[in-house]
Amino acid sequence: MKIEITGLNQIYPNGNHALKDINIEFGTGMFGLLGPNGAGKSSLMRIIVTLMKPTSGQVLVNGMDIQKHRKELRKMLGYLPQDFRFFTSLKTWEFLDYSGSLAGLKNRRERLTEVDRLLDQVGLLEVRDRQANRLSGGMKRRLGIAQALIGNPKIIVVDEPTTGLDPDERIRFRNILSQLSQHDVTIILSTHIVGDISSTCQGMALLNKGELVFSGSPENLVKNAEGHVFRLILNPYDYEIVKEKYNVISTIPVEAGWEVQIVSDEVPEFPSESLIPNIEHAYVYFMEHKLHADITE
Ligand code: ADP
Repeated sequence: MKIEITGLNQIYPNGNHALKDINIEFGTGMFGLLGPNGAGKSSLMRIIVTLMKPTSGQVLVNGMDIQKHRKELRKMLGYLPQDFRFFTSLKTWEFLDYSGSLAGLKNRRERLTEVDRLLDQVGLLEVRDRQANRLSGGMKRRLGIAQALIGNPKIIVVDEPTTGLDPDERIRFRNILSQLSQHDVTIILSTHIVGDISSTCQGMALLNKGELVFSGSPENLVKNAEGHVFRLILNPYDYEIVKEKYNVISTIPVEAGWEVQIVSDEVPEFPSESLIPNIEHAYVYFMEHKLHADITE
């Protein structure tokens, strides 16, 4: 599976330029789309699942223009939208059975076997007879992924699936996705939570205010931040100066004043120790520091 996005722009009727000349390419496995609220993630997702036509540019799936082949694309697609809700009093299994019918699974016996297989996969088999809208928030999200999976899609698009979940559920959801990514599918996951992007993502992109700030592997993102993250021990006076001048990532009170971590293109003017960056550091480096630096340069 190969997905190529070229020259994509989305301008809403009110003039909002939500996607600005986006070019990304990725293949099988998990692909993470990371960015703060308003970055353009949902707009990009809606275009990929053909719910919205872009203002300009195109998306190719295995060389096929999705706008010209919407029917074929939808057959190979599973989608969990950000605002997925149940306006239904169906039982959990009944809801998934209904989703299966919509996905084209005609044989009832095969469909029911698939329903229970998927309920088991997302850990909902025990609550299969509970009314779907009485499930907990995390369970609803897992039922959401199950409905996206029914019919064996080749491309699975999940928009901000971990928002509002407690840490246990978030980890559980992530594990479900990473298990799926072992199979021959492409998963596109959007999130504003850095921790959702892990080494299980083969590729990732950073979006900010409609612009693509980075695309590549998470390892590459981190590598690009090497030599740009520093730890400093500062007295309260110097701390005020550093706070103004640099992007401060964290501040911890210590006896001498403050221990701070910063991102910076150059070695800071104050005594400092270079740190090995993690993905959070790299995120701040790209999103806040680098973007700002590029714009003001
Ligand atoms: P994200 O999913 O990253 O939060 P969105 O794609 O929802 O980002 O939004 C990107 C930008 O487009 C935001 O400024 C948002 O306000 C704007 N936007 C989204 N949907 C619409 C719409 N239907 N009409 C006008 N502006 C929109």
